[in-house]
Amino acid sequence: MGSYSDEEFTGIVVSRQDYRERDMLVTILTDRFGFKTFFIRGARKRGFRMQAAILPFTHGTYIGKINDDGLSFITTTREVAQYQEISQDIELNAYASYILGLARQAFGNQPDLASLWFTQLATALQLIDEDYDPAIITNIIEVKLLGCFGVQPNWQACAVCGRDDLPFDYSEMYGGLLCQEHWHLDEHRLHLDKRTIYFLRQFSVVDLTKLNSISLKETTKHNLRRALDEIYNSQVGVYVKAKKFIDQMGSWDKILKNKNN
Ligand SMILES: [Zn+2]
Repeated sequence: MGSYSDEEFTGIVVSRQDYRERDMLVTILTDRFGFKTFFIRGARKRGFRMQAAILPFTHGTYIGKINDDGLSFITTTREVAQYQEISQDIELNAYASYILGLARQAFGNQPDLASLWFTQLATALQLIDEDYDPAIITNIIEVKLLGCFGVQPNWQACAVCGRDDLPFDYSEMYGGLLCQEHWHLDEHRLHLDKRTIYFLRQFSVVDLTKLNSISLKETTKHNLRRALDEIYNSQVGVYVKAKKFIDQMGSWDKILKNKNN
């Protein structure tokens, strides 16, 4: 079990909780050590010097002491900024919380996974903060993180014959795509339409740092949500609290629309 002083890392503040009378425990997703919880002495005192650096959805450079086991410590921070829109909008907040919650479950205690994915996750939050469609950005992260959960669908070709020139559907039984010739092998395939399949395949390879713009029809968004819920529920099986809120937002939308019609 190691302990490392004066380590510099990039981080995103994930959550925090009051601790004792004046202190706080702050969980940060770091680019080098995965998710770590920091003991911040005096954080609840008025005029605390690192106040801005430990607000939820703040990102920046942190320097401190990292312990493999137990709590870590922050001594200095630099260039910290908050994702403003995310911190002020309850809906964006839910998507960002879900992405970070999913990442936490995906990485567990494997800092190398966190390092590998840190830039994509930070970019996802940045894009949501810049008004990119949060549902689509979330779908992209969901597709990309499947591998961390041990679900690695082949998005390139039919799982049975390897053909890539026929219409596809997704089969959980075969752990990936099935071409039309092999649809009969799995009657429980997800019966996804062409556009949904197209975007799932795109999402698996897209680099968020190179994303310029993206917009999808409501029906395609709905189908992507349904497909990923199915895959996550039956093949991944993780629970992230913020997801429930996102699902509820979906049904509120429906209720409001029905009332207006
Ligand atoms: Zn096939």
